[in-house]
Amino acid sequence: MRKERVKARLRRVLGIAPALKEIMLSSDPVGHKRKKIGNFLAQTEVASFDDDKSIHSLEWVLTRDANRTLSNIFSARSESLAGYSLLNYLNELLHGEHLTDIPEPKPGFFAELEHLLKGVMGKTGVYPEKTPAFLNYEGAKAAKLRSADLTRMARTAQRFLGRYDSGLDDDVIRKRSLNKSRILKYFRATELEWEDWKWHTRHIIRDADTLNDLIKLTDDEYRAVKLAGEYKIPFGITPYYLSLMDYEPSREYDYAVRAQVIPSLYYVEKMRYFRDSEEHSMDFMLERDTSPIEGITRRYPMIVILKPVLTCPQICVYCQRNWEMEDVYSSNAALTRERLEKAIEWIEVTEEINEVLITGGDPLLLSNARIENLLFRLSRIKHVERIRIGTRTPVTLPQRITDSLVRDINHFHNPGKREIIIVTHFEHPYEITPQALEAVQKFRRYGIGGI
Ligand code: SF4
Repeated sequence: MRKERVKARLRRVLGIAPALKEIMLSSDPVGHKRKKIGNFLAQTEVASFDDDKSIHSLEWVLTRDANRTLSNIFSARSESLAGYSLLNYLNELLHGEHLTDIPEPKPGFFAELEHLLKGVMGKTGVYPEKTPAFLNYEGAKAAKLRSADLTRMARTAQRFLGRYDSGLDDDVIRKRSLNKSRILKYFRATELEWEDWKWHTRHIIRDADTLNDLIKLTDDEYRAVKLAGEYKIPFGITPYYLSLMDYEPSREYDYAVRAQVIPSLYYVEKMRYFRDSEEHSMDFMLERDTSPIEGITRRYPMIVILKPVLTCPQICVYCQRNWEMEDVYSSNAALTRERLEKAIEWIEVTEEINEVLITGGDPLLLSNARIENLLFRLSRIKHVERIRIGTRTPVTLPQRITDSLVRDINHFHNPGKREIIIVTHFEHPYEITPQALEAVQKFRRYGIGGI
C-alpha cells in the first residue's frame, strides 16, 4: 500500500517532464537510463537557446541552471564523488519489489524533485509576467517602462527587508538598554565593567541554567544547551551578545540571533554522533589534508590561513571549525609561541605566499601585545603584501575594539606596500547595534575596515 502510494506520487512528479518519466518507467537497465536522461537534458538545454520571446528571461536562466543541476546529480562522476546514486534510488522506488530496504522519501524530497523538474521544463511560474514589457520598445517609452519595473522590484525588496528589525531602530536600542541593565544586575556589575571586554570574557554564559535565568528559553533550547554541556560540545554566549536577545522566547524578532549560538537538539545530537563516530569526519573542509604545518592551512597558490588561536568568545553553530575547538574562550587554545614561530617561518620560506588570512578561532582574543608581535613578524616578510584578520568580535564583543588595539593594528597598514584588512561578518540586521557600528567605524577611519 505504502509502496503504491510512493510510486503514484513519484509518477505524478515525473509527469512534469513526460520524456523523463517515460525513460524512468521503462524496463531499461540503469546505465541506459542514465544515457537517455543525459541526452534528454542536453536536448532540453540546446532548445532553451532558441530565441523564444514568450519565455521570461529569468525563467530561461532557471531552466539552464536546473538542467545543469540535474545533469550533475545524475552524472556517474557525481555519484562516485558522493558515494550515492539518486538514479538508483528513483529506480528502486519505481521498480523495486518492496520499500523496506530503502528509506521512504520525505515530502521535502518530492518538493525538491518537483521544483527541479519544473525548472528544467521552464514551468516554475516564479515570474508571472511573460517578458518585461520594456523589451518591446525603444527610447523613452522603454526607459519609463523599465523604470516602473525597477520601482516595483525595489518596493518588493523593501517590503521583504522591512520585515526584519534592525539593531539600530530606536525601540530596539531601548529594549537592549533594558536587557543590559538586567544582565548587569544579575552579575552585580557596573556600566564601566560592561565596557571592558575582559569582563565579558570572564562572564561568558556557558550553561543552560544561567542562560535560562537571563532570558526565557524554549523547552527545546534549554534541553539542547543542557545536553551540549553533558556532551562537551562547545557552547557559550557573551553577555553583550545575550543583550541582543529578547527576553521572551517568542523568537519573533531575535530568532536569527538566538539560532546562531543556541544549538538545536538536532545539532547537539548530530555533533555528538559524528564526533564519536569512527566512519565519519567532521573535518568537511579537509583541514587535515591542507595543513602543511600546524597552524597553517593552504588551499590556494598565494594565500594561506594562519590560525594562532582555536577558540572564540562564543561558538556559532555553523562554524566550520567547531569540531576542532575544545571549549568556548579556553585558555589553552592559543598556538604556543614556538609553534606559531614555526608557522611564521614556514610562510617566510614559502615565497609564493603574498596574502595571509589570520583567523582561527578569533585572533582578536589574543592580547594586544601578541597581535602586535604577530603583525610585526609577518610585516617583516617581504613577499607578504596583504594581511587579513578575520574576526567576529565587532559583532560578538565590540568592546574588544579599543582605540589602542586599532592603533596597534593600523601601525602595520602600509598601503601600496602591505595592507591590513579586517574582515568581519554580520549575519542579520538585528546584530547591528550602535556599539558594533562604532567598532567597525574605528577600523574604517584608518582605512582598514572590511566587510
Ligand atoms: S566566530 Fe567564526 S571561528 Fe568563531 S565560532 Fe563563529 S564561525 Fe567559528
